[in-house]
Amino acid sequence: MSERVIPLVDQRSSSLPVTVPAQAIPATGLLGDALGRPLRDLRISVTDRCNFRCNYCMPKSIFDKDYPYLPHSALLSFEEITRVAQVFAAHGVQKIRLTGGEPLLRKNIEILIEQLTALRTRDGQPMEITLTTNGSLLERKARDLKSAGLRRVTVSLDGLDDAVFRAMNDVDFPVADVLRGIDAAREAGLGPVKVNMVVKRGTNEDQILPMARFFKGSGVVLRFIEYMDVGATNGWRMDEVLPGSEVVQRIHQALPLVQLEPAAPGETAERWGYADGSGEIGVISSVTQAFCRDCNRARLSTEGRLYLCLFATHGHDLKPLVRGGASDEDLASAIGALWQRRDDRYSELRASMPPDRGVGARRIEMSYIGG
Ligand code: SAM
Ligand code: SF4
Ligand code: SF4
Repeated sequence: MSERVIPLVDQRSSSLPVTVPAQAIPATGLLGDALGRPLRDLRISVTDRCNFRCNYCMPKSIFDKDYPYLPHSALLSFEEITRVAQVFAAHGVQKIRLTGGEPLLRKNIEILIEQLTALRTRDGQPMEITLTTNGSLLERKARDLKSAGLRRVTVSLDGLDDAVFRAMNDVDFPVADVLRGIDAAREAGLGPVKVNMVVKRGTNEDQILPMARFFKGSGVVLRFIEYMDVGATNGWRMDEVLPGSEVVQRIHQALPLVQLEPAAPGETAERWGYADGSGEIGVISSVTQAFCRDCNRARLSTEGRLYLCLFATHGHDLKPLVRGGASDEDLASAIGALWQRRDDRYSELRASMPPDRGVGARRIEMSYIGG
């Protein structure tokens, strides 16, 4: 049998061991990283699998039937995820977003949501639990997700034209089913629903206005995301990035917009409201307008590795501590030490990075770490 060669894009082996510092770092909620940024937002990937093959995220040529996804035993259990999340909450995290891969493919995800909703923020508030999904299973699952305690969902949808969307998800999945998922989420009370559209110049830029028109006045907040150079498999090129500012201009010409205040510090989306008061859109310009200076997000991979930046080349492996009898205080100290050293600001430095660290470097895949 011929051996399968995994292209040099599999980042999962690139993890660094995590040690507990000699001096304890208690979770006070006041943790700051090397650039003074607090820790407020935790994104947890619950699976590295997906039923779509969006070409900007999981191109079929790499993520084919032989791709070595993680075995179930490598994934953190729900109890382990909840324990780690509770330590993050003690450090000041106020919001948890579940992602993937496709998070709704993780069996019994409702049980994890129930466990996470029991967490409290440092000031005693219920933890805000949200989820990002491709929407394919949402019609079926929206009610159970709501009953489990999920607050809101973000649904990814890259166009309204069926042919464009089917080509982008590359599994021939129809728009109508995602739209039914969005309706089901709204009916279940998982609103306000946000819809994420990744804009690729030359691929779906003609969908910007139809999408804006469709969701205007519906209560759904449509957000346009610049196509990013995450991972190392999508063949990213700067000329396929349509700057967020251009998206705003194009919409503004047809549907006048006014700029709104950011919703919260560290909020990634620039907010624009329709001048006639019929709702708002968001623009996430991670490539052309870096927002690293306010970045308060940590990412936990499905196998328990902590990533301090979406563009990190290495994760920090918490699983040996979690499974090796470390106390919550040890975990808090280990996470605290990592956050204190964090100086990542990839998007701000992208253009000036040396070739081995810049665009095309061996970075973690979006499908592994989530958005
Ligand atoms: N499967 C779920 C989904 O698609 O919503 C959750 C995981 S997906 C990795 C999270 C978000 O990342 C999605 O909104 C997706 O569109 C976005 N994304 C993936 N690759 C991207 C890229 N290269 N540039 C910008 N956004 C990307
Ligand atoms: Fe799957 Fe989401 Fe990546 Fe598309 S963006 S391939 S739906 S994980
Ligand atoms: Fe945060 Fe890294 Fe993105 Fe900058 S590049 S906003 S530090 S995740």
